[in-house]
Amino acid sequence: MSKIYDVVILGAGPAGLAAGLYAGRSRLSTLIVEKGKDGGQIAITDEIENYPGQTVEGESGPSLIERMTQQCEKFGVERVSDVINDVVLEGDVKKLISAKGEYCAKTVIIATGAFSRPIGCKNEKEFMGKGVSYCATCDANFFEDFEVYVVGGGDSAVEEAMYLTKFARKVTVIHRRDELRAAKSIQEKAFKNDKLFFMWDSVVEEVNGDGILSSMTVKNVKTGELTTIEADEDDGMFGVFGFIGTLPNSKIFEGKGVELDERGYIPTDADMHTNIPGVFAAGDIRVKSLRQVVTAAADGAIAATQCEKYIGEME
Ligand code: NAP
Repeated sequence: MSKIYDVVILGAGPAGLAAGLYAGRSRLSTLIVEKGKDGGQIAITDEIENYPGQTVEGESGPSLIERMTQQCEKFGVERVSDVINDVVLEGDVKKLISAKGEYCAKTVIIATGAFSRPIGCKNEKEFMGKGVSYCATCDANFFEDFEVYVVGGGDSAVEEAMYLTKFARKVTVIHRRDELRAAKSIQEKAFKNDKLFFMWDSVVEEVNGDGILSSMTVKNVKTGELTTIEADEDDGMFGVFGFIGTLPNSKIFEGKGVELDERGYIPTDADMHTNIPGVFAAGDIRVKSLRQVVTAAADGAIAATQCEKYIGEME
């Protein structure tokens, strides 16, 4: 059998990295498994303004995460890049299984986070990467001097729309109500931005184009009126960015004994225990009221501390 770690952490976002830091400092043998880039959703966040103590002008998600990763590694946390596709969570030795092999641990912290919810319009899949995007940091530069539409009205939609105004000629936020959900401080900045416009009470019904996005149909939810938006003739294309919330990365846990709520998030108690002894959840994957870097990091710290306690009681 492969090495049995004290803790295997699944996911290297703020929750997973904070858990790694605390587990490493507690001298627990710790492995973090991440399938992609460190950072989860903040790997694609342009500006972090509300992490306590973060007053560095222009701090981005990636720059904050880079320091979290370094801090974790300083305390001896092992890292592997792998895709886990099956889990065995019951019993004293938990197993996380990938195509390469399996990782065994006395405790597991699930910190797999969440991903962007699709806009839900017709032809959306067909135009992903061809005009439809969910990541301003990744794709904004493709729309230098073009027109861009942002779907959503929360913090992400409004912040990313402001970021996109640095590239696009004009950015229009399409929101299904006539009032934003975003924090008032974010709204104040947005309403002062003269490249930013709003289309209220509206949803995107359909996106179209000849290989590249150049037209879309938007419906006014109050009047039922349909409007077709065509790309400017000289441009021949425009961008649509979706920021309408998130869905949990919990597919691999379905039917594996760990309780999920009706939307797929993992319920825990205040100490991050799931329903399975030795299995903890931290960060955006949890059922919780506030999904932020600070709450994810706090969850990770608590989960790691509880792993130490659980292992102590096992021995
Ligand atoms: P969110 O707060 O859940 O907002 C989602 C937005 O999308 C809402 O305005 C919602 O409209 C709209 N929406 C949802 N489903 C829709 C649909 N099917 N069609 C059209 N519109 C739809 O999501 P988020 O902005 O991604 O933020 C997620 C969490 O991260 C929040 O807790 C947020 O505070 C946090 N966050 C914080 C910051 C920051 O503090 N700087 C930055 C980014 C994110 P309704 O308003 O009508 O429901």
